Amino acid sequence: MDKIIKKVIQQIQDAGFKAYVVGGYTRDSLLGRITFDVDICTNALPKDIHAIFNISNSNNYGGSNLKIGKFNIDITTFRKELKYVGRKPVLMEYIDDLKMDLIRRDFTINAIVMDENDAFIDPLNGISDLEKRIIKIIGNPEERLKEDPLRILRAIRFATVLDFEIEDSLYRAMKACAGYTATLSKMRIKQEMSKILLSKNFKNGLKMMKELGLDQVLGITYEDVIFTNDLQGMWAQVKICDIPFTNTEKSNIIKIAEVVQLGEISMATVYKYGLYVTTTAGSILGVSANTINKMYKELPIKERKDIVVSGKDIIEILAIEDKRSVRFILDDIEEKIVNGILENSRVAIENYLKNK
Ligand code: ATP
Ligand code: MG
Repeated sequence: MDKIIKKVIQQIQDAGFKAYVVGGYTRDSLLGRITFDVDICTNALPKDIHAIFNISNSNNYGGSNLKIGKFNIDITTFRKELKYVGRKPVLMEYIDDLKMDLIRRDFTINAIVMDENDAFIDPLNGISDLEKRIIKIIGNPEERLKEDPLRILRAIRFATVLDFEIEDSLYRAMKACAGYTATLSKMRIKQEMSKILLSKNFKNGLKMMKELGLDQVLGITYEDVIFTNDLQGMWAQVKICDIPFTNTEKSNIIKIAEVVQLGEISMATVYKYGLYVTTTAGSILGVSANTINKMYKELPIKERKDIVVSGKDIIEILAIEDKRSVRFILDDIEEKIVNGILENSRVAIENYLKNK
């Protein structure tokens, strides 16, 4: 493990506690994948962790967070979750036992721990499932999915991102429990689906979602999604009900979808939507970024204020009274310039206006 993480573990140990790396960082290091999100589990209580690192933050579940260098480290006290309401453990107990803490986790591949010397402790045989490339839930599949239906989406996400199989009994339970995902927060759905959509293997994830009927439950429709490296470009190909996008995300997603709908990219489209939207839509439509960059460079104007005549000039040239018509005249000139029909020069525009 990275020496920054080793030092964090040793600081907890020096205070007299046990501490291990668990979850994604351990799983991904066994798979040779790089991650900077680190989960540490410990028998130290949150107050002990606060004292050791001189911090005061805690999340709702008593977890503490450290940001050191590139690493985002979550430290969580061993626990037993006693009662769930919705997907929130409303009653839990801090415990001293590592194995009990591993049993409450979701999948065997997420319940492998690594000590400060990179030795693995793996009472639930997660390493063997990693080698078999299989997602297996800990405990009774239906019980564990009803307890927290987010595990259904997490199973699909891990199977997609890691290109693993989901164990049969878990997959059957996912089908039986699919309806429970209707209660999940839209934000969590957004987070998990975003990870599915960003994976090169996203088609498998989307296929599983359909097989399980999750598209229906979550109100998500899609056909023939094409891979693009851009998350907003991926969301633009999916029809969704009330996913909490930011205003910028929403606006980009709508614009990308509009350009994809047009089916081709013209100079006028590059002008109207700009480089980001058109290159993203282009990668879905099979138009290269190079081609679009070239079109952008060749645009006679990049924005309306690049037109050499202003609204005031137009009023003068045409000696018009009704100022409201200026906007329409400018729209017309702008369109003609962008499409190469009219030259962006004072003389050309004056002639054009006078002859009209
Ligand atoms: P990544 O960080 O790549 O998203 P991760 O497995 O580390 O993957 P986290 O959300 O960081 O996922 O959670 C850390 C660990 O906490 C998991 O590996 C798992 O052991 C446990 N965990 C997370 N979510 C759940 C859940 N819904 N039910 C049970 N255990 C969970
Ligand atoms: Mg993690």
